[in-house]
Amino acid sequence: MNSWSEMFQQQPIVSKMITNSIKKSRISHAYLIYGDKGTGKVELAQLLAKSIFCKNKQGYEPCQTCLDCKRINSGNHPDLHKIEPDGASIKTEQIAHLKKEFNYTGLESNKKVYIIEHADKMTDNAANRLLKFLEEPSQETTAILLTENSQSLLATIRSRCQILSTRPLNSKQLELKLMETGITEANARILTTFTRNLAEALEKSNDTWFAQARKLVVQLVEMLQNNRDEVPIFVHTQWMPHFKEKNQLQEGLDLLLVWFRDVIHYHMDDPSSIVFLHQMEKLEQASMYWSIQDITKHLQTIMEAKRKLEQNVHPQLVIEQLTLQIQR
Ligand SMILES: [Zn+2]
Repeated sequence: MNSWSEMFQQQPIVSKMITNSIKKSRISHAYLIYGDKGTGKVELAQLLAKSIFCKNKQGYEPCQTCLDCKRINSGNHPDLHKIEPDGASIKTEQIAHLKKEFNYTGLESNKKVYIIEHADKMTDNAANRLLKFLEEPSQETTAILLTENSQSLLATIRSRCQILSTRPLNSKQLELKLMETGITEANARILTTFTRNLAEALEKSNDTWFAQARKLVVQLVEMLQNNRDEVPIFVHTQWMPHFKEKNQLQEGLDLLLVWFRDVIHYHMDDPSSIVFLHQMEKLEQASMYWSIQDITKHLQTIMEAKRKLEQNVHPQLVIEQLTLQIQR
């Protein structure tokens, strides 16, 4: 993300707030940007720093080609300091070092910017030290604190910052981010059906329980089409042992909902909406077996089963009824 015009696509509100303050030359002494992993916090901080240092900027847009912009891109601008956790935490010495660096005047200007990533990981001592630093702001210093968890920061630090929050990614953006990490399109699409949070999606992609849950859903549906007699034993020996907890069972039913919605999308020749992308053949078989009307009824039945689970009806009973009701 190299320009504000790109950033506006992903994070319009925060971008608007920051670029307004750049336009009016009213940049705060301290910003706290919080939001989920992958929502562009680091990129926002980097862009703000560029807009502060770039001498050829057009309005608020940095030029990307001057020495300042290039140095920021390569991570070695002398007046931009970044702090990240050293191991599990950000330690007092790291903040002390920052303070010392800031006592030197800049070569070309007195402007200084520091970015603290995972600011919630500061030890209590480090946080108190930073607080003192924030309490004596020099005219030309800008602090940018980033966190996924703003509530873990000292209230006294938060109160000194202009607080900005990034919005979660939409499903398409998250899908692309997941695919950048090597996850297939089919898997990325299923993951984004369950979460809009990159960290959670990545965790789920490595979750063997979730992978097995998906398989069981496909198996159950196949059995409902082809071997109805074997469904009770399948529910008893495979389904129930896997979906032991109520929330797990809800997730299993959510997958079942996704599957049947996919069959409807298949019927309607709308492949771009299909989630179980790697099961097209089975979706085709299901669409020949069940009409759209059948499936609409099944979706209602599954929703009803989810409600019963919430009302603490015995899980095994809920699933047995559900599989009986899903008929042709
Ligand atoms: Zn520039």
